[in-house]
Amino acid sequence: MKYISTRQAAPALNFEDVILQGLAVDGGLYVPEFLPQFDEKKIAQFRKLSYQELFFEVTKHFVVGAIDDDTYRKIIDKSYKNFSHQAIAPLKQLSHNHFLLELFHGPTLAFKDFALQFLGNLLDHILAKRNEKIVIIGATSGDTGSAAIYGCMNCENADIFILHPHNRVSEVQRRQMTSVIADNVTNLAVEGNFDDCQALVKQMFADQSFLNGKRMVAVNSINWARIMAQIVYYFYAALQLGSSIDRAISFVVPTGNFGNVYAGFLVKRMGLNIAKLVVATNANDILTRFVNNNDYSRQSLHDTISPSMNIQVSSNFERLLFDMYKNNKSESKLGNLMREFEKVGKLDTSAEVWKNISQIFCSYSVDDLATKNKILQVYKNCQEVLDPHTAVAVAASDLFMASENYGGEMVVSLATAHIAKFPESLENLPVSKPQLPPFLSDLFLRKEKYQVVKNDLEQMKKVIQNFCHP
Ligand SMILES: *Cc1c(COP(=O)(O)O)cnc(C)c1O
Repeated sequence: MKYISTRQAAPALNFEDVILQGLAVDGGLYVPEFLPQFDEKKIAQFRKLSYQELFFEVTKHFVVGAIDDDTYRKIIDKSYKNFSHQAIAPLKQLSHNHFLLELFHGPTLAFKDFALQFLGNLLDHILAKRNEKIVIIGATSGDTGSAAIYGCMNCENADIFILHPHNRVSEVQRRQMTSVIADNVTNLAVEGNFDDCQALVKQMFADQSFLNGKRMVAVNSINWARIMAQIVYYFYAALQLGSSIDRAISFVVPTGNFGNVYAGFLVKRMGLNIAKLVVATNANDILTRFVNNNDYSRQSLHDTISPSMNIQVSSNFERLLFDMYKNNKSESKLGNLMREFEKVGKLDTSAEVWKNISQIFCSYSVDDLATKNKILQVYKNCQEVLDPHTAVAVAASDLFMASENYGGEMVVSLATAHIAKFPESLENLPVSKPQLPPFLSDLFLRKEKYQVVKNDLEQMKKVIQNFCHP
């Protein structure tokens, strides 16, 4: 399988290089040259497979020519052995026709474990084979950091640096990162906000000479491996619910960088009978404005109780646009369109492309008050305490199921985090206090290690050089 850039001015890469490369040199994102297709009969055959077996069957086409079947199966098995629920991604019924897909049974209690456990094992394999050492540098607003550390800490050939905004992540989130005391893991608390952390990482990517020849690898969702791993649970949920040619399912996805819901879109393209993909946003609603009014314009950032969805611009949205423009045979326009967007902060999408997108996607924006009300309501009705990101999805589901877009099909809302990660969001709500699961119950007793650093590129480079293994 070859991978091509959404802006078509960068070389096509094979699987290994795409995982190590991150952003394409033309500023685009890498996508597979084509998608495997599964018909009704083939999908029905998947029904008896375990999560890990299903993972192998639906993703093996993406690694053809790069990893042999035996090795690939081992990488997959290793990636899901640290999940605390045997079903890996269990479904829970909330109401008639409405289900939660619980994606928080991984080691750091957020859905990012699905992709980052896999990416860590994949990197370990690729680097050992190539006898190459890399430096992973990532910025986090909370969830990505711990998932990346837990995913990559056993990777012998990688030094990992995670930048988080000092005093601006929740205590659970910070401790999940800083209590990992490992030789190749360094937590850096930056005196600045998340945007500052991200800007530092971007600048270091642009000029990696300070790493003395080592490659810097991205673990955010521009990395194709993350999207690829997330494809699997859409298939898994649909199979459990008996999806078929005359039994469609809709998915509701709490969205920030558009990585998760883009994986759902690929699954629809691969042949699964998906009615609608519902994009649920918080007050940072660029995607909702786009789907409803063709308004994709950058606005100022809002603080919310669902911090992992606080984004101004969704990086993976470009991958969707590429697919849609390609369908219209006008993908050559995308490079200019995106460069123009980066300059003026507003996207000039063709009316036809927008119309096609709005037939597949619906979108709802849910503010903090509605999110809290939904947490309370679901607690009263089902004794289930939702985390604020999941509550945004469930609130959007209710709006969707009451709208004319809904055709009576089963609806699956993605539960992207465990409530014990976000106890602050329950302040003043009369619900029971969330408990960390047993394997994290001593989190507040664990020793922490991190270094506070200035929001300064040159100092950051020195600190990283200092901690890097030769
Ligand atoms: C990262 C994250 C999201 C947003 O996922 P995207 O792939 O960026 O859309 C939603 N919920 C939680 C809990 C997250 O950690």
